[in-house]
Amino acid sequence: MGPITIPVFGQEALPAECETVIVGGGIIGVATAMYLAERGADVVLVEKGHIASEQSSRNWGWCRQGRRDPREFDLIRESLRLWRGMNEFVAGDTGFTTCGVLFGARDEATTERYAKWVAEAAQAGISAEIASGAKVRDLLTGDAAPPPAGLYCASDGRAEPQLAVPLMAKAAQAKGARILTDCAVRGIETAGGRIISVATERGKIACRNVVVAGGAWTRRILRDLDIHIPQLKVRATVSRTQPLPGGPSPCFWDDILGVRKRLDGGYTLANGLLNTVPITPDSFRFMAPYMKILAMDWRHLRMTVGHDFFSEWANAAPVPYDRPSPYEACRVLDPAPDMRFVRSTLALFRKRFPALAHARLVQVWGGMIDAMPDTVPIISPVDGISGLIVATGFSGHGFGIGPAAGHLVADMVTGAKPIVDPYAFRISRYFDGTMPPPYGGV
Ligand SMILES: Cc1cc2nc3c(=O)[nH]c(=O)nc-3n(C[C@H](O)[C@H](O)[C@H](O)COP(=O)(O)OP(=O)(O)OC[C@H]3O[C@@H](n4cnc5c(N)ncnc54)[C@H](O)[C@@H]3O)c2cc1C
Repeated sequence: MGPITIPVFGQEALPAECETVIVGGGIIGVATAMYLAERGADVVLVEKGHIASEQSSRNWGWCRQGRRDPREFDLIRESLRLWRGMNEFVAGDTGFTTCGVLFGARDEATTERYAKWVAEAAQAGISAEIASGAKVRDLLTGDAAPPPAGLYCASDGRAEPQLAVPLMAKAAQAKGARILTDCAVRGIETAGGRIISVATERGKIACRNVVVAGGAWTRRILRDLDIHIPQLKVRATVSRTQPLPGGPSPCFWDDILGVRKRLDGGYTLANGLLNTVPITPDSFRFMAPYMKILAMDWRHLRMTVGHDFFSEWANAAPVPYDRPSPYEACRVLDPAPDMRFVRSTLALFRKRFPALAHARLVQVWGGMIDAMPDTVPIISPVDGISGLIVATGFSGHGFGIGPAAGHLVADMVTGAKPIVDPYAFRISRYFDGTMPPPYGGV
């Protein structure tokens, strides 16, 4: 079972029509709804499970510039600005705080790579440093084996995913957005190259615009429109401890350990290095665009063949919209955590922080990341279908940039000046041969 989120109560009645339907109640769909509603737009968000039930409540909660792909620099800078005002905007505590983020460096080569990143980030106005010695020891209070150096970004932050996204959804409702939960979108209908409606399990909503923010389901939703994005799934494992006073405050990733202090005083722990890739029929279909990232990262990926392969195969055929869809059959994608990662992570955390050796895990969960081969999201209209906007493929780092990404989608829907230049996020890069390689900088 995933983490518990603040409940957001959706309305029962299905609106017959609206201007914009958002598919998916993760941070991207919710932020879009919030910023659209703020502008007085007529918006309905439809979520098959509950708000933030998938990636958006299961993530680590890091809101970081450090080590980010330069193509996302503008987005994260704007996003952190929005995060800093978020508590006031949503009238609640999202847990956002500027705590700093440190990436440990245990050898010269890593320190050099990080130093290059610091120089590149500085040109984009992002301030970070190579910290070493006493500074690192000071940041990692109580660490028995601190790294000699690290990439430190003091203006980075953290927020509580299980609080932040539901609070943003409530703020969207308060500003006039309508939200339907436990309501799957079965498909999107077009005529003459335009969006005309969304078919849900409760009936149809006539609309002019659709924002597809369906996380790991987006590949399937778009496939039914004959749009084939090379999106795959990666399974990650996370755990959390009981409250533990006295440990380090910055988020940090060092060796295999990814650690974030929680608002409840506990720590979110994860193996920051290793993830599991379920092999599915799509893995073979999209092998070519992933070759570069596989070559860079294969040591850190555990391939598995099992339930996911057969489930994707068995559910491959399109389902008519008047029949129950695979989305209703899986209200919440709740992948099993990998217990090997959990045990080794806790053991390392206890060893590194002897004063916290009594740490025990109170919850463990899995999350399915929506990956793209260049590890940069799609935030884009789609040529040939007027009114369709896709926002997906955040490749394991969409929580931090979620607010600005939602703002950007709202800009696209309303025709406002975009909060950042959206060129890097165009969907067409996967179809016209202009997909850049994955960022190999750090
Ligand atoms: C373990 C883990 C750790 C992570 N750590 C971080 C981190 O520290 N920092 C960071 O920035 N990012 C992190 N991420 C990534 C981040 O969580 C995601 O990029 C972000 O949450 C994506 O948001 P989303 O709204 O696109 O997708 P999701 O949160 O997955 O939401 C998609 C929603 O769409 C709904 N949906 C799908 N299909 C339909 C349908 N047909 N009808 C109705 N609803 C539908 C789903 O039910 C789901 O609720 C992490 C991710 C994971 C899994």
